[in-house]
Amino acid sequence: MAFSKKTVRDVDVAGKRVLMRVDFNVPLKDGVVTDETRIRAALPTIKYLKDKGAKIILMSHLGRPKGEGYEAEFSLKPAAEKLAEISGYDVQFVDDTYGEKARKAVDALGDGQILVLENVRFDKREKKNEREIAQTLASYGDIFVLDAFGTAHRSQGSVVGPAEFLPAVAGFLLEKEVDTLTSIFANPERPFVAIVGGSKVSSKIGVLEKLMESADTLIIGGGMAYTFFLAKGYKSVGKSLVELDWVDKAREMLEKAQRIGCKVMLPVDDVVADHFGEDAKGFVVISTEMPEDMMGMDIGPETRKLYADEIAKAKTVFWNGPMGVFEFDEFAAGTKAVAEAIAQNRECTSIIGGGDSVAAVNKFGLADKMSWISTGGGASMELVEGKSLPGVEALDNA
Ligand code: ADP
Ligand code: MG
Repeated sequence: MAFSKKTVRDVDVAGKRVLMRVDFNVPLKDGVVTDETRIRAALPTIKYLKDKGAKIILMSHLGRPKGEGYEAEFSLKPAAEKLAEISGYDVQFVDDTYGEKARKAVDALGDGQILVLENVRFDKREKKNEREIAQTLASYGDIFVLDAFGTAHRSQGSVVGPAEFLPAVAGFLLEKEVDTLTSIFANPERPFVAIVGGSKVSSKIGVLEKLMESADTLIIGGGMAYTFFLAKGYKSVGKSLVELDWVDKAREMLEKAQRIGCKVMLPVDDVVADHFGEDAKGFVVISTEMPEDMMGMDIGPETRKLYADEIAKAKTVFWNGPMGVFEFDEFAAGTKAVAEAIAQNRECTSIIGGGDSVAAVNKFGLADKMSWISTGGGASMELVEGKSLPGVEALDNA
């Protein structure tokens, strides 16, 4: 499926004021950016616009401020500084978004110059997508570019709004994300192995159903596995995370998989602990015999081998959701084994989506071994589920 919207390549940006929504929603510690991935991801479009001589106005949200004005901990200033540092460009920052100060800074911009506006969410009308917000932002530009894939699933003022008033096109990151996450299902090289973990079945239902329809094998791990255990009739999952309301649905999904010829793999052994915590000690048990007083925290060693063997045969891999509570080292082995198996398969196209799965891949230092790591958690899941993203919908058709 080719990308069906206009991109920055389709418009003449030279000397124009280009208002670009980026996703600079980066983690900060003591006013310093601790993970610059999202800023780096915006660089190709910024560089392109700069080289073409556009006047570049960047806007983003950061965190969840109250929306009642400036809050120091959510300022975009550190992100603007990080952009300057990693790009080597001169980057201006204005501590205003919708006021006179912002307008003056925009008016003073020369060709090829870059300005970062303050957090769009310092005004609560942004999240509510109120029209004045979009109108004010749109008045800063001649062209609107959306490159904030991570927020493209949100109908908010700075994401969808300016497209109503200005020619609206995609940046390179948005285009690549949408292309990658949709084409994998259209025509995957087989075998296609999909791996889904994370905490809950309920939050991944749409993803599981969609993956089952196109993957040859669906590997399941993480907290959601235990609901599937009950669906299969295992007598106990102890104190593990389960969603009793979803057991019937899980059973239906297993039946559907069988009907449509998708092989589903569930853990055969598990690492369990007597409580949930950093200090908890893990014990290996067989999945059909989980002790009453223990909870499942990770997939077991035999499961890791089976999953790794299946991944080794894949030509396409999609992975979302950790295999265990990888935040605690004691229970990170399952997630690490899956990440390593994907990294070692040099023949396959591997796509990683989801906030925590991406964090896990980064934690293990394997990010550069993957074909594509999505910068959007929620947005990537919505695309996988086959939904369209409001931000993308609002752009001009190619
Ligand atoms: P992603 O962000 O990649 O989509 P999720 O948000 O669905 O992933 O799930 C990630 C969370 O699932 C992690 O915080 C992890 O600790 C948790 N998790 C994984 N396995 C278990 C388990 N066995 N019990 C409880 N929580 C788990
Ligand atoms: Mg998550």
